[in-house]
Amino acid sequence: MSLADSLQTILKTIPSDVRLIAVSKTRSAKEIEEMYHCGQIDFGENKVQELIEKYDQLPKSVRWHQIGHLQKNKVKYIAPFIYLIHSVDSIDLLETIEKEALKNNRTLSVLLQIKIAQEESKYGLTFDSALEILKLKKDGKFPHVSIKGLMGMASFTDNINQVEKEFSSLHDFYITHQKEYGLTVLSMGMSDDYLTAINCGSTMVRIGSKLFGKRNYTV
Ligand SMILES: *Cc1c(COP(=O)(O)O)cnc(C)c1O
Repeated sequence: MSLADSLQTILKTIPSDVRLIAVSKTRSAKEIEEMYHCGQIDFGENKVQELIEKYDQLPKSVRWHQIGHLQKNKVKYIAPFIYLIHSVDSIDLLETIEKEALKNNRTLSVLLQIKIAQEESKYGLTFDSALEILKLKKDGKFPHVSIKGLMGMASFTDNINQVEKEFSSLHDFYITHQKEYGLTVLSMGMSDDYLTAINCGSTMVRIGSKLFGKRNYTV
């Protein structure tokens, strides 16, 4: 299947008010460009080095999303151009983002990543610490940051009930605080669980392998 067909196939399964982020990590600039010319403008990457190389090679109207864990010392490389950072998982990181946003004379848009999975390894804030950050923001801290919403990753499991439970817990928190803190984005769902995520209220899905085919990390 061509990338154009693959994109159309996925788009048919996504409601028009849910935004598709094409996760292009490990994919070539050529593949991204091909998909861009089919009308896809949002792309997600998880490694800063790879992201800045692709930023240099691709049209400036591409909207780049940082979706993976972000180290503080790398924020400066993406601050001039990043469209949305999905992976704010500590207050320290948010402070660094604020500083770099100011230096670049921009307001940087971010999502707070919340740990909803059972697994130990996944990054993310607790609901309580996310709420603390939202309150600080409301009280005037981080003036060069716009907290657009929340991001979460479900456990890697075939147990749909478990995945549903995790996505629903994030959606509940989102709905509870949406109005007060002006949240408009709920980023959840990947290739294997995006339909479940959409059923649980996702507004943004991050899809890689279902769109581009299986990743080959050795290339
Ligand atoms: C790789 C990645 C995705 C996409 O994964 P697929 O299973 O290939 O769709 C989504 N979100 C994050 C944070 C990722 O690192």
